[in-house]
Amino acid sequence: MTKLADAIIVGGGIHGCSTALHLTLAGMKPVLIEKDYAGRHASGVNAGGVRQLARHVAEIPLSIRSMGIWERINELLDDDCSFESHGQVLVAENETELAACRARVAELNALGFTHEELIDGTELRRLVPAVADTCPGGVVSRRDGAANPAQTTTAFRRKAEQLGATVREGVAASNVRREDGLWRVDVGSETYAAPVLVNAAGAWAGRIAAALGEPVPVETVAPMLMITSRVPHFIDPVVILRGRKLSFKQFKNGTVLIGGGHLATPDQDRNETVLDWPSLAISARTVFELFPVMRDATIMRAWAGIEAKTKDDLPVLGPSAHHAGLYHQFGFSLHGFQLGPGAGAVMAELIVNGGTQTRIGDLSIDRFRPSNS
Ligand SMILES: Cc1cc2nc3c(=O)[nH]c(=O)nc-3n(C[C@H](O)[C@H](O)[C@H](O)COP(=O)(O)OP(=O)(O)OC[C@H]3O[C@@H](n4cnc5c(N)ncnc54)[C@H](O)[C@@H]3O)c2cc1C
Repeated sequence: MTKLADAIIVGGGIHGCSTALHLTLAGMKPVLIEKDYAGRHASGVNAGGVRQLARHVAEIPLSIRSMGIWERINELLDDDCSFESHGQVLVAENETELAACRARVAELNALGFTHEELIDGTELRRLVPAVADTCPGGVVSRRDGAANPAQTTTAFRRKAEQLGATVREGVAASNVRREDGLWRVDVGSETYAAPVLVNAAGAWAGRIAAALGEPVPVETVAPMLMITSRVPHFIDPVVILRGRKLSFKQFKNGTVLIGGGHLATPDQDRNETVLDWPSLAISARTVFELFPVMRDATIMRAWAGIEAKTKDDLPVLGPSAHHAGLYHQFGFSLHGFQLGPGAGAVMAELIVNGGTQTRIGDLSIDRFRPSNS
């Protein structure tokens, strides 16, 4: 039996759920297909960092658009998503790193972006009192913060359903094809058909794009996180180190989440990851070195999530270069949680209005098209 919808969205991460919600706000009735459950993968297990700080220039307009939505997330979703805005701070550990921070902020200012601010050692220590005395300064993005990833993805999904989206979980979309002017996907024994298909399948999206003749250089990676035992309150903002793979934040209950990009080994067909404990130990040692208050903490738990990483670390967001009615929204390369609200809004504008005011041209799938095709 074929069921008709206004749009089919493949993938129930924050991106698919955000697009589903924004399509319903525009009056459409999409169906979202999720092979496991919404938020099962990267969107539900990430560090929750809501960061404009240290982004590639090409995605800053999207990040700024998203931040505006984060700041009103309760109005949109009837759920605060535990979003808190304590800022994010990038710490320079020496004068060479501080010089690079200075150059970066000057570059952004020249482009008209003012969200990143250079700070000296005094301001760094005001924001992050426990940082080692040797750190000479850094950069702050004061409106940044963090949210609860599973709560956020669930809130988008729930609101989309309330406004008329259908969510199908526990069964994969397969046999994606275009027939008689409609996109069709098989979902178990049923088929859905719609004029619009959004490929928001996270680490699995590259396969869908390739099967439809639009291969993208994307690999599957599995960033790791760990959480410590409780330590006395010592930090409010999220902290990132400029020179090392490290980010961390302290929760209200005193535990500290440590991440930053060390990778586990993913098996995306089995939904599994194998942790790399020696690299986790490097991150833990760095935090313990820089923050004496952490020295008595122990690591309580570690995990990883499966994520799509493109060759240029930028997402693919926008219409297909080949097929009418096909849109891609994947490849968020370890930093797509903050972009979720904005990317869904932009995707709905592309689908409903045929364009968007948000500058996303550099994120087009066309950038990977071989020059002779
Ligand atoms: C450990 C970790 C920490 C991170 N920290 C941050 C952070 O602090 N800040 C930040 O901004 N970003 C962070 N990220 C990145 C962020 O989590 C991701 O970029 C973002 O969640 C990607 O969302 P998505 O919707 O594209 O993908 P996903 O959340 O992976 O969702 C895609 C969904 O598609 C489903 N799917 C795939 N194929 C099919 C199919 N055929 N049929 C049906 N369903 C299908 C999958 O089951 C999956 O649920 C982190 C990521 C990880 C793993």
